[in-house]
Amino acid sequence: MAARVVEETKNTIYHFGPDLIRSTYLEKYPKPRQLGRLQATAGPHKSGGDPHIAGRALDIILDATVEQERAVADQLVDVFLTMRERMRWGGLIYNGEEWNSAGIKFPRTGSAINRHLSHIHIEWGAKSAEQVDPDDFKPLLICMLMQVR
Ligand SMILES: [Zn+2]
Repeated sequence: MAARVVEETKNTIYHFGPDLIRSTYLEKYPKPRQLGRLQATAGPHKSGGDPHIAGRALDIILDATVEQERAVADQLVDVFLTMRERMRWGGLIYNGEEWNSAGIKFPRTGSAINRHLSHIHIEWGAKSAEQVDPDDFKPLLICMLMQVR
């Protein structure tokens, strides 16, 4: 089960984010199917200490090679960076870039999967996943999400 901060972030983005967030996308593996863009639970390919298994991570499926999806993703990344201290996330990854809990940016290299070209990954550390009260950041997050087009 996902941590409350993950569930509340997911629900808030779903309800107050742009229309694209509520659309589905075609997942090709293991078999072609339409899936929602907000995914907190771990896929079968994840193992070990993966933060999705621990319920501390959220993926937002937005393809960086599709201009419209990347435009929305870039705005969401900006929202998360602006909200960093309130949301107290521990890591953010998208499209060859990664930010740590201090908001410092690093290049994310390697394969397309490792560079996260297909989705934003946001995660919380074990401590903040437990301590963060989503009610403390939701009103501001909602305001910012409503500006995303
Ligand atoms: Zn992820």
